Formats: sequence, C-alpha cells, structure tokens
Amino acid sequence: MKKRFVLLFLLLSAVGSQAQTTPPRRPLPIIDVHVHAMRVGTMSVEMCPWFLRDMPGGDPNQQMTAFLNAQCVDPLQPAKSDAEMQAAVLETMNRLNMTIVAYGDPTILRKWKKAAPDRVIAGIGVSSPKDMSVQAFTDSISSGFYTVMGEVAPQYQGLSPSDMSLDAYFAAAEKQNVPVGIHMGTGGNGMANISQSSYRASLGRPFLLEDLLARHPKMKIWVMHAGYPMADEMIALMGANAYVYVDLAGFIWSYPQAEIHAYLKRLVQAGFGKRIMYGTDFMIWPKLFETSLSVIENADYLSFDQKRDILFNNAVRFFRLDASKFK
Ligand SMILES: [Zn+2]
Repeated sequence: MKKRFVLLFLLLSAVGSQAQTTPPRRPLPIIDVHVHAMRVGTMSVEMCPWFLRDMPGGDPNQQMTAFLNAQCVDPLQPAKSDAEMQAAVLETMNRLNMTIVAYGDPTILRKWKKAAPDRVIAGIGVSSPKDMSVQAFTDSISSGFYTVMGEVAPQYQGLSPSDMSLDAYFAAAEKQNVPVGIHMGTGGNGMANISQSSYRASLGRPFLLEDLLARHPKMKIWVMHAGYPMADEMIALMGANAYVYVDLAGFIWSYPQAEIHAYLKRLVQAGFGKRIMYGTDFMIWPKLFETSLSVIENADYLSFDQKRDILFNNAVRFFRLDASKFK
C-alpha cells in the first residue's frame, strides 16, 4: 500500500516537473477573415449571440424594435473605449494564435496594425463610387498598407456587385492581385425598413456576381456571409467559378445555431469544405471571437481536418499567405 503511494507520488511529481519545464504549446493558428476595426461608442450595446431566433412581429405604426437583443443571462459586453478594445483584440489574437483580416476606421486599423504587424492584414472597402475616387482607391492598394479589398457592400446602397459604377475599382484590385470580399446575403431583421432603406434582399443573390466574375477572370473574390440563406445559388456559383470562396461571418453568431449548422453542413456536404473561411464580423464585443469559434468547435459533423481547413488552411490558400509564418 505504502509502496503504491510512493509510486503515485513519484509519478505525480514527474508530471508536475514536466509541466513546469515545458513551455506552453501555442494553439494551432486561426485566421479570422472578417473583422471590423471600429470606433467604440457608435453602437455601445450589450448583445446576446444567436438573437435572431425569434423575429419580432412588428407594425409600421408602432415604435421600431431594436435590431439587437440583450435579453439573456449573460450578454456580451461592448468594449468601453478604443484603448480597451485594442487591448482586448491584441490579447485575444495572442492567446488564440489568431491573425485577422480587418477593415474599417483607418485610424483604428493603423493603430492595431502598428501594435501587431504580423497579426493584422489590412483591407479597404468601396461600396459606392461616392466612397472614394478610383484613383484614391488605386493609390491605397498600391501603398503597401492595404492588401485586401473589403468589405465591399453594394447591397446596402441598393447596388448589384456587378453594377458598372463599381467596375473600375474591381479592375484595379484585379490588376494589383488584391483579393476582394463582397457582402452578399443577410443583413439582419428589418434591414430594408428599419435601418437601411436602400438595402434589398434580392441584391444579395450570389448569381449577381456572375457578370463581375466574367469581366474579371483574374480577380479572386470571397462571398462574405456565404450568401446566406441562398445555399443553392451559392453552391451553383462556386461550382461554376473555381476561385470563389465564402466566409461565415455574421450569421455564425446571430442566427439560431441549428440554422447555422444546417447551412454550413450543406456547403461542406456539397463539396466546398476547401472554400469556406472562418470569419466573425467582429464589431465591438471582445468575447465575440470565442463565441464564434465555439460554433466551429462544436460542429460534430466536421472532422478535425475540415475544421483546420475552415479555421486556417483555406484562408492561407485564398490570400496566398505563407503557412510556415504562422506556426
Ligand atoms: Zn457584411
């Protein structure tokens, strides 16, 4: 009996000393391809993930219903200042061994990039010719700072992504070999008549990308939000266009989990597991990274390798990155 205790003690101390001397292993790398670098304050509200499970029945003569929902046990808390946000994003990237493709406020983006140059890939979006001139856009993607075009969201402007008013911008991205992310699909509850009057659900149809793709055969695009909920068109478009990828941003934390998994499973089942990239649509809630990650981790219909493709390998291929730099 005593001897057994001694043995157990020796074993435990061996494990203990090993734990002390071996440096903690870094988690396998993750790339989040859809992060918004925002100023805090513009929408400082709590948020319950997967809140779109009960679309309110509204009436135009009544007060509008809030877009987000904070009625749950443990809503995600918004960062309270730009400094708190930056600290949280940096801490999360380091802890999760995560790299982000980020776009949005240029001052915030430059600060993040300066603080973590190897973990931030900067993008610049144009959603309407009113945003900036073609020359200004071309200068931006030639500067070396911006290496991605995104988020491009003509749907909110009432424009098709194939609208000719945007064509010169896409031509510039194609010429510079800059990958392009285009918002297609979901916007949230009441987008057209509560928050964005120019938004049209029909302008999120993946097939609207076909003319654009035909005009720019060398341009690499990824369909943000995976064209949700139009899986049929998304699958047909990816089948016809071998270089089109998708991201899972936005709907991964806003729609009911059963719906998210059904959509993701459908795309994988259709054979596109190598063209799906992990993305969050991160805005102001630091814990949203972990919340979104849990959806992929809990997807029991995906193998380990399929999860690694979605979380990392597919983005490395799509953005032409060097995988060895991420270990
Ligand atoms: Zn979007």
